Parts: sequence; structure tokens; C-alpha cells
Amino acid sequence: EPLLVGRDLHKAFGQTEALRGADVSVRAGEVLAIMGPSGSGKSTLLHCLAGIVRPDSGSIQYQGGDLVAMDDARRSALRRTDFGFVFQFGQLVPELTCLENVALPLRLNGVKRKPAETKARQWLDRLEVGDLGARRPGDVSGGQGQRVAVARALVADPKVVFADEPTGALDSLNGETVMRLLTEAARGTNAAVVLVTHEARVAAHSDREIVVRDGRATDRELVA
Ligand code: ADP
Ligand code: ADP
Repeated sequence: EPLLVGRDLHKAFGQTEALRGADVSVRAGEVLAIMGPSGSGKSTLLHCLAGIVRPDSGSIQYQGGDLVAMDDARRSALRRTDFGFVFQFGQLVPELTCLENVALPLRLNGVKRKPAETKARQWLDRLEVGDLGARRPGDVSGGQGQRVAVARALVADPKVVFADEPTGALDSLNGETVMRLLTEAARGTNAAVVLVTHEARVAAHSDREIVVRDGRATDRELVA
């Protein structure tokens, strides 16, 4: 029984049909790569599954509810409690320290400052950037910043981490390290990872791949 199932998803932006019938399932704890050429609809599919973009039609089943039918308040509450996010760049709050950035999801879930920062520190250590807690995102390298972002995505024990080209702005060595740390950390907590990438080298870190072409995707796990 999959954790998250999107069926027959359609989404248009004006005249552009970004999704034209996409099926995808995510199992608990798996690392799923969504692959395909630029402009094929990968990001749109990820944003739909993550409850950021509402598809025009189709269903997204998660824990007995349908994200497509859910109101915005419930979807954002679900994102906060159950999902983590890593994007290509720019997702850290520049005014906060790296430690405060990692603690932020816990603070938004009502955890007090001290226990939140203790847990954030442990996650920075796990991502091998424990010495960067006091710095601001503008004062760390791209690779270091992505490790901080991974720590932040995992700190609140999400069921699913959504990662959209998480290594897209990194050189291949830093990209490999971030992918290794992300997948190791997710496997350690049994969080599923939904990873959008157009690079085979990045997808090689996944357990399973789905290809999006012209807004369409099929998932063998759903057909079977
Ligand atoms: P990919 O991630 O595979 O590169 P996207 O999902 O980003 O593909 O985009 C699919 C198509 O939808 C593209 O033609 C893109 O320009 C278009 N698109 C995506 N998001 C928007 C948006 N917010 N507004 C208008 N067009 C969009
Ligand atoms: P990628 O395809 O790698 O995701 P893009 O630059 O295409 O990167 O998209 C980055 C963001 O901009 C996404 O959130 C996407 O939905 C949005 N976007 C993409 N194409 C358009 C567009 N034509 N108009 C407005 N927003 C877009």
C-alpha cells in the first residue's frame, strides 16, 4: 500500500498543459526519482504531490485524504507536519543563522526554542556541517548551504521529503555528497524522498525511477 498516490493528474498554466495525465505512487521510505527532459512537467508534478500546486483534475491520496480536494489551510498544515523540502537554491532564510534555519520547521510546529535548537544541532552534525550553525546562509558555500537545507528538510521527522533538482547548482563532487547525505539521512528515518532531476548520475541514488514525457507519466507499481 503506497503512502502517496497521484492519479490522472492534469495541470495547465494558461495555454501550456504542464501535466496531461500523470500517475505516480510513493512508497514509505523509498527514494523515487522523477526524471525527464526540461519542460516535461517534472517540477509541476512534484509541486502537485507536495500540495504546493493544485492540479486541475485528478486525485492525490495521502493518509485517507485527497490533497486535490483539501482546502489551502489543511494542505499547508499537512506540508508543515508531514513534508520536508529541498530546492535548487535560495530556500534558506538569509536573516537567520544556519542553526535557526534548521530549527525553523520545529519552531513552526510549536517546539520551544531550546529543544528545537538541540535537535537542529544534531541534524547539522549528521550532515557534517556542525561547525556552521552560527553562520548566515550568505556566508557558507553552495554545497554547505544545501547540506543545511537537507538538515532543515529532515529535522521535523517528515514522512516525505520533496527535492527539486537539489544538486542543480552544485559541482558534481558536492552534488554527489549532498545526494549521499540526503539519501542516507532519509533511509535512517524511513522518510520517503521524491527527487526531481534530469541527471542520471543523481537518479542513480534512487530506488526507483519514473519518467515524465510531455506531461504524461505512468507508474508500473499502480498498473500491477
Ligand atoms: P520541468 O520541471 O520538467 O522542467 P515544469 O513542470 O517546470 O517542467 O514545466 C512544464 C511546463 O509548464 C513548461 O512548459 C513550463 O514553462 C510550464 N510552467 C511551469 N510552471 C509554470 C507557471 N507557474 N506558469 C506558467 N507556465 C508554467
Ligand atoms: P525547472 O524546470 O528546473 O523546475 P524552471 O526555471 O522551469 O525550473 O521553473 C522554476 C519555477 O518557475 C517553478 O516553480 C515553475 O513552476 C515556474 N515556472 C516555470 N516556467 C514558468 C513560466 N513559463 N511562467 C511562470 N513560471 C514558470
